[in-house]
Amino acid sequence: MSDLSKRICIIGGGPAGLSAAMYLEKKGYTNYVIYEKLNKVGGKCYSPKIKVKHNGVEEEKSFETGAIMGAITYHAISEMEEFGGYYHKGPNFKEGEPNMRREFRKLNGEVDHPFEPKVNFSFKKLFSLLKLKKQMKKLNQIMQTKYLGYDCYGHLGVAKGEYFGISKGVEGHCGATKENSFPNYLKGTNPNLKDLALPFSEFCKLNGVEEVQRIWIAPFTSFGYGFFDEIPAALVMKYLDVTTALEFVNMGLWTWEDGTQQIFEHVNKKLQHPAVLESEVVKVERPEGKVLVTIRGKDGKEKTEEFDSLVVTTPLDYFIKYADATKEEKELFSKIIHERYCDYIATFEEGKSPVISGYLVENMVPERLGHAMVYYNRWEYLGGDCPCTVYALANHTGTPDVDYDDVMKMMDEDMEKVGFPIKEKLYAQEVYYCPHVSSKDYMEGWYDRLEALQGNKNTYYAGEIISFGDMEDTCAASKDIIGRFF
Ligand SMILES: Cc1cc2nc3c(=O)[nH]c(=O)nc-3n(C[C@H](O)[C@H](O)[C@H](O)COP(=O)(O)OP(=O)(O)OC[C@H]3O[C@@H](n4cnc5c(N)ncnc54)[C@H](O)[C@@H]3O)c2cc1C
Repeated sequence: MSDLSKRICIIGGGPAGLSAAMYLEKKGYTNYVIYEKLNKVGGKCYSPKIKVKHNGVEEEKSFETGAIMGAITYHAISEMEEFGGYYHKGPNFKEGEPNMRREFRKLNGEVDHPFEPKVNFSFKKLFSLLKLKKQMKKLNQIMQTKYLGYDCYGHLGVAKGEYFGISKGVEGHCGATKENSFPNYLKGTNPNLKDLALPFSEFCKLNGVEEVQRIWIAPFTSFGYGFFDEIPAALVMKYLDVTTALEFVNMGLWTWEDGTQQIFEHVNKKLQHPAVLESEVVKVERPEGKVLVTIRGKDGKEKTEEFDSLVVTTPLDYFIKYADATKEEKELFSKIIHERYCDYIATFEEGKSPVISGYLVENMVPERLGHAMVYYNRWEYLGGDCPCTVYALANHTGTPDVDYDDVMKMMDEDMEKVGFPIKEKLYAQEVYYCPHVSSKDYMEGWYDRLEALQGNKNTYYAGEIISFGDMEDTCAASKDIIGRFF
């Protein structure tokens, strides 16, 4: 019998922490506290309001510094929307709403049409697109057959050729039926799944589908999730499963008018115990049977509280620095790698901002590390005077990291070259992004070792590392962890 009165501490008021609280409440647990170090919830979903001018009239609009989009595979996010009463727009956007239209640009500023055979027609282009189409079909087919079971959240068993997790499937899409769609668990054995530990580029080569990387690269690498020669295919295919990837291709994406942060602000307001803000967890001690959590408040004063259980939704490679970590925790969590993703919101010289979002595909290679890979214009109706967000990656395994200041400078230069000269930066940041492990550690069963630790010392691990660093996967991971262990 579950002890519904047990006192639970959740570290972090981002999507993972708030969804953990929501799923705890849904199971009848109400004795929980969420500690959040910042003065706001939502974590990397931060959507500041910025004043813009339209037809001479000033208005405030939401802009995104972090998460932007969702899709029909965003099941856990749909549950958060329902709980908080705040819903997405799209995929059919109305005039004046934020939208997800995008273009491709060459570094000389020319608009490119890599996937439209009739524009700049040549037989070479036609053949390469036919090849791409054939390989897309093949990938869709092998993911449903050879890699049956890939399409669930998390990585349990994959290194052993097994699968176990909540299905990400959408009934009627890519072979999913009601029985094997969200929120049912998928469980089985499939030795082929071990291939998912390979870097994505090798996985594609092994399966003769190298061309598909041309589709996957924009919503993966330019979104800061790393390069295909270093990231295990499991991460790529669990985030951009075929259904989600097709939503990108077919422009079936969602976004949120007042910003993704509002999903979590709304959930937080509906929780019985909204997150305690400006409260950083600075120490965790776990003597026999209890959890002692020390929190530093806004005034710098520290206090220690006692709990029965702990749910950590924050980076585990940092957790081992302030907790009484065991040898296994230290060994395992020090293997976590994260991306260094940089972005800024900027205004542009008068009338010279991008009117829609765009990908700079030539910059999505390690040789162009630190260069702008994508820019995001949310409010197309504002024309050439809309502030936009610009993004770049600063790290790649085997290449020296690029300093933050250099990244900022390179992004400015790139935007100028493609025809969008920056006037002023309104907000800039580098974020801890997409925590994951190397192909080698993945292959050696890192995730199964993490699973074996769940519940030890009354501690449960959730957050981005469990499945993938996006809103949906982190919230679905909370659903799974709370569902199975509480
Ligand atoms: C530029 C960018 C673009 C993105 N685009 C998308 C997108 O389009 N779609 C999508 O689905 N996802 C996107 N994401 C990813 C998504 O935002 C994250 O995966 C998601 O926010 C992760 O949620 P989390 O709760 O695990 O972690 P976080 O969002 O990082 O939240 C962790 C929280 O814990 C707090 N915290 C940390 N340490 C402590 C401590 N010691 N004590 C107390 N509190 C602490 C932090 O302040 C933070 O609020 C994007 C992210 C970025 C940065």
